[in-house]
Amino acid sequence: MASHEASSWTTAFFRGCRRKCPRCGKASMFRGYLTIADACTHCELPFEPLRADDAPAYFTIFIVGHIVVSGLLMLESFAHPPYWMQLAIWLPATLIMSVTLLPYLKGAVMAVIYCSNAKG
Ligand SMILES: [Zn+2]
Repeated sequence: MASHEASSWTTAFFRGCRRKCPRCGKASMFRGYLTIADACTHCELPFEPLRADDAPAYFTIFIVGHIVVSGLLMLESFAHPPYWMQLAIWLPATLIMSVTLLPYLKGAVMAVIYCSNAKG
């Protein structure tokens, strides 16, 4: 194991959650919002084989859906707000949470693929 190698899969996972290289944790895996860099600028790990495909979107929808639906139902049962108010609250919340979570979940999925040695 090289000196910059992740000591465990949890270390690599949390590096991925921070959008950093899962092997060294020094450089970003991304050169844009969701566009991955060709390779790590520090340890030269190629990122192209770590293809996450649809998994980050799936996990984003899963997490945001549970938060929004449970929040909507709790608000409805406790306060009975008008429908326009539910829409005014939960549509922007859904958009903001999805846009915020997606790049971090993509990094986490790429780190898991790196740890599992799976081929993308
Ligand atoms: Zn690296």
